[in-house]
Amino acid sequence: MKYEGTVIRPPSEARSLLLQVTVGCSHNRCTFCGTYAGEKFRIKSFEDIEEDILEAASWGRPIGKVFLCDGDALIIPQKRLVPILESINLNIRGLTRIGTYANTKSVLRKTPEELRQLRELGLRIAYLGVETGNRELLKVIRKGADYDQIVQAGRRIIDAGIELSVTVLLGIGGVEKSIEHARDTARILTDIDPHYVGALTVMIIPETPLHDELKRGEFTLPDTFGFLEELKIMIEESDFTNCFFTSNHASNYVPLRLRLPGEKEDAVNLLKEIIESKNKRVLRPEYLRGL
Ligand code: SF4
Repeated sequence: MKYEGTVIRPPSEARSLLLQVTVGCSHNRCTFCGTYAGEKFRIKSFEDIEEDILEAASWGRPIGKVFLCDGDALIIPQKRLVPILESINLNIRGLTRIGTYANTKSVLRKTPEELRQLRELGLRIAYLGVETGNRELLKVIRKGADYDQIVQAGRRIIDAGIELSVTVLLGIGGVEKSIEHARDTARILTDIDPHYVGALTVMIIPETPLHDELKRGEFTLPDTFGFLEELKIMIEESDFTNCFFTSNHASNYVPLRLRLPGEKEDAVNLLKEIIESKNKRVLRPEYLRGL
């Protein structure tokens, strides 16, 4: 497999074949993200992608899940993306699902029919970075989409029959906007009503605009219990049909895996208890936290 630059995947794609179809992220402007810093975005050629597919096929074992890297495979125009998915279907033994990161702008460039076509070709899950539901903060972090567009993109994925997993970022509003961020994020999650939510804690990456803001004193991270207060509010104030909500990413202080709404009360009570007791011994230690 010929990978270029940084290749990442969601934790749940740990066993998937990572098939790089683009290099970098077409947006690459979010103030907190340094994943593809300095990488020039491009779509790989069909020939290069197919070479990797054929190499994986030559291993002779069933592969199951395929994850399309990098940041934003849905930006690929439909007439170029369809042959890639067709080749995966034709060559990969034991294929059970194809997954991809998605960003709002790319999703909204696809029509509902195009997304349904991708679903028919095996696209079963998309991971959408929501980060916050606070309208002002979405502009500040340069997410490249507003509240209504994000909801529309999320609903379009779900309506196409594709499972939707979204991420939100604890702490991205800093101390100043902490509570507003948490409450508005609960609202946007309710409006999207995704199958999965992953809450991550913002980590300050050197050489990102957020890092510069922190250094200039224009941004202050909430303390540990401030992050947990945000998590509690997001769980308490969101309203899902049936969502698997996790905060077990390595960046978090309290790893939770919840089925909501069923386990809401227990989770909120647990978080309240931890916040009130200020007991740091029950938290994941700093040295075990990371991206
Ligand atoms: S859209 Fe995702 S990958 Fe691209 S800059 Fe923003 S957070 Fe990073």
